[in-house]
Amino acid sequence: MEENQLMDSGVSQLNSNAFFIDPVRILNRSYTRFRVSPSTYYSRFFDSLNSAQSPKASEDFRKRKRKRKKKIQSLNEREQIADRRHQEVKPFLLKAHEALLEATDLLKVLRNLRNDGCAVGECKELSQETSELSFMELGGVWQAPLYEIVLNYQQDDKTLQNGGSPLAQSIEQRETPVFNNLVANEGSYDIEAEIFNHKYIIPKRSCFYMSDMQQIDSLIPAGSDCGFNLIVIDPPWENGSARQKVRYPTLPSRYFLSLPVKQLCHTAGALVALWVTNREKLRDFVENDLFPKWGVTYAASFYWLKVKANGMLTGELDLFHHRPYECLLLGYCDGKDTHSGNLTRSNPIPDNRVFISVPGDYSRKPPIGELLLDYVPGSMPARCIELFSREMIAGWTSWGNEPLHFQDSRYFVSK
Ligand code: SAM
Repeated sequence: MEENQLMDSGVSQLNSNAFFIDPVRILNRSYTRFRVSPSTYYSRFFDSLNSAQSPKASEDFRKRKRKRKKKIQSLNEREQIADRRHQEVKPFLLKAHEALLEATDLLKVLRNLRNDGCAVGECKELSQETSELSFMELGGVWQAPLYEIVLNYQQDDKTLQNGGSPLAQSIEQRETPVFNNLVANEGSYDIEAEIFNHKYIIPKRSCFYMSDMQQIDSLIPAGSDCGFNLIVIDPPWENGSARQKVRYPTLPSRYFLSLPVKQLCHTAGALVALWVTNREKLRDFVENDLFPKWGVTYAASFYWLKVKANGMLTGELDLFHHRPYECLLLGYCDGKDTHSGNLTRSNPIPDNRVFISVPGDYSRKPPIGELLLDYVPGSMPARCIELFSREMIAGWTSWGNEPLHFQDSRYFVSK
């Protein structure tokens, strides 16, 4: 039952408040000609499938447990608040995880997600030979305004030639600046785009604006009803791990006060979904400074619980600085439309909803934007934007300094 739901939609309901999701299936709804390769998405957490815990691992585990006990006794005031917060959400996380472990057929599917749709030995591996383009470097040089991306629109000529020859295809190319420019694929097929001999797959009906935060005001809609009804934000918060791994630059929290969230909202209002880390100082800042500055009223918290391919959590639930879950804070921003208060939001937003999935690449969040659509104010289809995005989704606008990152053709296979 649950496995059928997963196969069909990429989402499987485990209990009233918990869902297992396969990001690859959800992302693949955006594509017609290509598909996200599961073996390149699931680049981690599939190697330990059958390995039993080694004696060394269990000794490490005992050491960590002793350390944790000592640590809890010496928590400072802020850490104690964080621990209380953790204790409050823990029953929801445990219940969700138990429901996953009871869904035996789903667990079988889960073990196989990385090889989904490809024969044994045929799964695409991320090529180490081809380097990725660094859009942050390219965007920072003086020539950046001159760099163009070539969009290759494929026009299928469905008229059979004399005698019934195969379909003839023609390609229409369009060149447009890649930085500080809204680049859109308005068609109903995904297209291949090219820059510096690197290929990128652009989903149907999607657009991106690639720029530094200093240019974000260019996204503020000119027309009063052109704002966004759903705004998902995953800021480059400062934290030990992001700095250690140097995958992208981080910014001090106060910089995000200047994000024009209110101006990006649709006149009918918007649901704002903000990914936060488990640091209490940050939670305090969001609650008391950031949301008030953005004009956002807190509504609920959702959680992303991370599991490995064998269904086990990616880390100990109680480990203080490495929790196997992340939090998405949800709030509403009222639009300028004075009548927007009268708009019925189809469903009241639930609290403590849990989404379980196997993580992809470092810091890559599961695409749960679509699962928020039921709680978005305004008329449908909702206008959606992701800020600090590294990928694109059909029907969405993606903004950040590298929104093409996971659109690199090395993450895709042809259908
Ligand atoms: N949501 C993304 C995902 O699922 O893959 C991860 C986003 S990551 C936490 C933050 C992003 O913000 C990174 O791509 C980083 O390069 C970008 N970023 C950092 N500083 C920026 C700036 N000054 N302007 C625009 N984007 C920036």
